[in-house]
This record gives sequence, structure tokens and C-alpha cells, in this order.
Amino acid sequence: MRFNIGDAVVDVVPDLECFPIPAARLLPTADLSSLAEHREWLEPDHVDFGRDAILLGMHALLLRLPGLTILVDACIGEDKQRPVHPAWHQRHASGFLDRLAALGVAPEDVDVVFCTHLHADHVGWNTRLLDGRWVPTFPRARYLIGRRELAFWQARAEPGLGYGSFVDSVQPLLEADRVTLVDDGEEIAPGVTLLPLPGHTEGQMGLRVRRGAACAVFCGDAVHSPVQVLRPEWSSGPCTHPLEAAATRRRLLECAAEEDILLVPAHFRRCGCTRIRRRGDGFRPVLGAG
Ligand SMILES: [Zn+2]
Repeated sequence: MRFNIGDAVVDVVPDLECFPIPAARLLPTADLSSLAEHREWLEPDHVDFGRDAILLGMHALLLRLPGLTILVDACIGEDKQRPVHPAWHQRHASGFLDRLAALGVAPEDVDVVFCTHLHADHVGWNTRLLDGRWVPTFPRARYLIGRRELAFWQARAEPGLGYGSFVDSVQPLLEADRVTLVDDGEEIAPGVTLLPLPGHTEGQMGLRVRRGAACAVFCGDAVHSPVQVLRPEWSSGPCTHPLEAAATRRRLLECAAEEDILLVPAHFRRCGCTRIRRRGDGFRPVLGAG
């Protein structure tokens, strides 16, 4: 799946094509039966109504600007110990780096890895196992991590944090001196600015990309699924601050609808992106780059 933001090209690079999560776990306050009128387009890609499950894609977003290759969010990775999620646990031969290679990108071609936040499904490919040690997967890249996000995780650093992902996928980058701490509002490249999206985690940030008249926001887990466009008040179970997450989501959707901004969430299956239109006093997604 490929789309453009002006002269920038974005490819969706799947790591795990479909990850079903019980709605009660991902969106504890959700009532999927209230979405019956949308069933026709939510199935089969986004919701499994029969199993009461939300279907997420686990993928990275490869953003190529003239002279700069950025990987946004690093999915699950391989060889990681994640027994809590069997589909994430001790993965081998996932084909992720082959899919990147098929797009003409070797690990050493990636200039920047940007983690919107530090949950286990956004940092996995930060590192890979080499001779029993975790090393940066992208050896030339600067890894951009939000200062507030990192401080939050470091303050809680215990071995099981994030299913162990902080220890195997973030700590080794710090030790290898590959991390650049970044702050809200910072411009990391011409037209590419960091945008605060707090609530899902303490310091989640998005990437606002403006190229000519085109504008997109890589918005991480501010919106997990198209159902949260229809029901912005449904925050996710893993959200650190659910009410703040809902307020952030509503603000983001309002802004996307007003300014015709393309949203690029981390987990939308198939399309990888969506435009937002007003619907009564709420919103509806128009999936794809349109
Ligand atoms: Zn996620």
C-alpha cells in the first residue's frame, strides 16, 4: 500500500497483517452492537462482529522525502519474549526486512526512526538479536524518542515494563548512543513537525508532514481503529489517561476535518490512512488517501 503527501511517498510495511483483539480488552467502554449501521464497511477489515473483536494491522510507515528516509513506528520485531501475546512471541522469519528491501530500502538506508510512543508494538524492530545481544536494526539511523515519553518509562523502569520491550528495544539504543530526544513542536526536517498527542501514553507524539498544499499527521495510537472515528469517546484499555486520550482524539479529528488533513494512524488495516469528514456533531472516516 502506497500513498503520497505532495512530493513525499509513504509505504505501509506490514509486520503482522492482522491482529484481532477482543473489543472488551481494546475498547473497554465500547458497545459494538451500536455500530450495526456501519457493519457493511467495517467488515471484514476492521471489525469481526461475530467474535466481538477489533482487527488491527501491525505495520511500520516508511516516509520518503527528498534525501530523507524515515521509518515511523517499529512494530513488533523478531526474537522478542512476549508470551502474553503468542503472535508477538519469539517471532522468526517474519519477512519484515524483506518487505522493506522490496521497496528498495536496506536497514542502513534508514536515516531516522521515529517512535510515536514506546509501547511494545511500536518499538520491536528498533533492535534485532545479533550474537545474543540486542543491537540497533537500522545502524545509521537516529532514533527519535519524545523526551517526556522516555522520562515516563525510565521512571517506571522495571524488568517486565511493556512486556519487556523497554529493556530489549529501547535500552540498547540508549546504550549505543543512537537516541535523539525530541520535544513537542520541534521541526525534524523541512515541513515535518512533532505534534503532542497525549493520553494514550504520557508523551505520545505525532508527526505532522506538510508538503506544498498537502498535509498529513502520522498519529500513532491516538486513533487505533476506524470505530474510534465514529466513537471518539471510546479510549483504549492500554491508555494511560483515557479521558485525555479521548480529548486528544476529538481535537485531532476536528482539526483533520477542518483542514482536510490526511490521518495516518499506526494500526488501520489495508488503507493505512484516512480522511475525516463531519457527520452530524461527530465524524466519519473516508478510508484511503482519497
Ligand atoms: Zn499500538
